Amino acid sequence: MDQAVVAGPGNIYRAEVLFRQGVDPMLPGRGVGRAVWSALWDDLVVLMAEGVRTGRIDTVRAEHTPEAMGRAPRVDDHGGEVYVYRRAGLPCLVCGAEVRAAVLAGRNLFWCPGCQPSSGV
Ligand SMILES: [Zn+2]
Repeated sequence: MDQAVVAGPGNIYRAEVLFRQGVDPMLPGRGVGRAVWSALWDDLVVLMAEGVRTGRIDTVRAEHTPEAMGRAPRVDDHGGEVYVYRRAGLPCLVCGAEVRAAVLAGRNLFWCPGCQPSSGV
């Protein structure tokens, strides 16, 4: 995503809200329709408020927590449970596809090719 279009949230939240809304991270900001922008923004506001409240970044839905899935908690320096951020090569928690990573405009992108199908751009 182009930082000139959406500034601020940081790489974790950016990767995670795109995943949660099923948006291809390669899609240029101008290719995102109003309804999707709105959904991304609303999701971001909820996640960030939760992050402030808990002091850690958790972006997985209730059904995808370690407790709900019977899996080991994530080990990472930011401490929270996430879907794709820094999970390249690991199976997607939702569909099992291998999480991908790429560098675009100097930033690391993380996404699931199963949950975030290519927009063709
Ligand atoms: Zn997936």
